[in-house]
Amino acid sequence: MILKGKGVFEGIAVGKLKIIVHQKIEISSDKKFAPENEKVRFIEAREKTCDYLESLYQRAVNSNLKDSEAEIFNMHKMMAQDLDFEDAVVSSIESGYCAEYAVKEAGRNLSEMFASMDDAYMKARSADVLDVSEQIIRNLAGLSSETIVIDKPCILYSDDFSPSEIVKIDSAKLLGFATKGGSDNSHTAILARTLGIPCIVATGVDIPITDDGKDAVIDCESGTLIVNPDKTQLKEYLAKAQKIAKAKEMQKSLIGKPNETIDGKRVEVYCNIGNASDTSLALKNDAGGIGLFRSEFLYLESKDYPTEEEQFIQYKNTVETMSPKPVIIRTMDIGADKQADYFNLEKEENPALGFRSIRICLERPEIMETQLTALYRASAFGNLMVMIPMITNESELDWVLDMAKNVREKLKAQKIKFNEKMPLGIMIETPAAAIISDVLAKKADFFSIGTNDLTQYTLAVDRQNSKLEKVCDKHHPALMRLISMTVQNAHACKKWVGICGELARDLSLTEYFLKIGVDELSVSPAYVLPLREKIRSLNLSE
Ligand code: PEP
Ligand code: MG
Repeated sequence: MILKGKGVFEGIAVGKLKIIVHQKIEISSDKKFAPENEKVRFIEAREKTCDYLESLYQRAVNSNLKDSEAEIFNMHKMMAQDLDFEDAVVSSIESGYCAEYAVKEAGRNLSEMFASMDDAYMKARSADVLDVSEQIIRNLAGLSSETIVIDKPCILYSDDFSPSEIVKIDSAKLLGFATKGGSDNSHTAILARTLGIPCIVATGVDIPITDDGKDAVIDCESGTLIVNPDKTQLKEYLAKAQKIAKAKEMQKSLIGKPNETIDGKRVEVYCNIGNASDTSLALKNDAGGIGLFRSEFLYLESKDYPTEEEQFIQYKNTVETMSPKPVIIRTMDIGADKQADYFNLEKEENPALGFRSIRICLERPEIMETQLTALYRASAFGNLMVMIPMITNESELDWVLDMAKNVREKLKAQKIKFNEKMPLGIMIETPAAAIISDVLAKKADFFSIGTNDLTQYTLAVDRQNSKLEKVCDKHHPALMRLISMTVQNAHACKKWVGICGELARDLSLTEYFLKIGVDELSVSPAYVLPLREKIRSLNLSE
């Protein structure tokens, strides 16, 4: 049987299949229960769940799942304690339902609300809500939390795995996992990437339990799960897996080595991250710095605008952890596919061409002012640079530079320490910015080319539309010209230029990027060493 899903990490896994069938709990939908009694049961079960989640948090902190994964359990605890959730449960109990039914319904409604959101990250939170309500229901039913015990190496398959299940699995025995449901942003996927385990989500198929114990293959690249492969397939995939394992070992030997071509051309290789705790991955993979910290995730994870102090703590942590390596934090890029409800942005026909990032700040300057103040304060603690996304014209840059000057003056007046010379760069991710990069280079301290948006806007290809993948020529000459022109214009003004879009990890372009003089490439942590390997194999003088 061959199942097609979405590979959310890289690699191949070959091993025995273990199918996990989640036990169903029978829940009465009768309206005959005494509310007082049910309320007490709910409160007790929720308390037990929160204690349990706290213990999982501690366990995750002490394991190789570092802060960002541990945070999942804190987030689950917050969901369990959420007042809207509690109100919904209590009102259902007061109308005569049992606590189990009330929790299930409240969880389902909340999860549907998340599922209907446009933002992929928020959509994926709907599974977390269900996980939390399931745990409360198990406690109400007097069942302990489910634990998946694996005694020998295997590939796990289920409808979906909850983060609480994954964190308790002995990851040394986990060869790979696949799920019927889930998405690229589901926590199963996030944890798989962090653990470095091949994983496929969204196969959409139930595998019969009779296939439990059979051979299976996961191929992340093609998003395929083969159950019961024939001898030839098995041999082919074992050989591929061995090759990948060897390459990984080779790459580890590159830790500490320079990103230098055979003929001596050096380039910086930095990492893209979404939050402060991802710095551990950047360091583990020996990145030279952080080339793109997408600060909008801080806004997406908050219920309201993050305060200056909240932002300062995150930025300071990042900068201190990475010090003396550089950290480039991008000011928030909310809008388009990254929507936060509390911004109350109007629905737009074409949000990618609409009200986003710097455009929002121009209308609501307090957002930029708060963020820039937090950033300048953090600049005292390490090697921080800041960059502004979605610039299309010179006046936007002038506006930011003016505001930065005001922020510096205010901090000085308050005798707060900061780095007066903190570099302020811009992202080149619109054709307009690339075309006037000669003008912008006179004022910005550096450029970082965002090829994801630059591709979308140059080729008129919606980056969210998977149907357009075939027509999206990522090596289009127009794109290459814009990149090369940007590099030339930056260098003419003695400014450095990097690439932080996904094209930076396209190894078939590394030689070209180095030849045109790109100074820095910023990629996801897992791609730092493969990119270093590529750079070290090149001889530009040939
Ligand atoms: C880009 O557009 O290439 C980029 C790095 O920004 P984002 O992917 O966050 O839009
Ligand atoms: Mg972008």
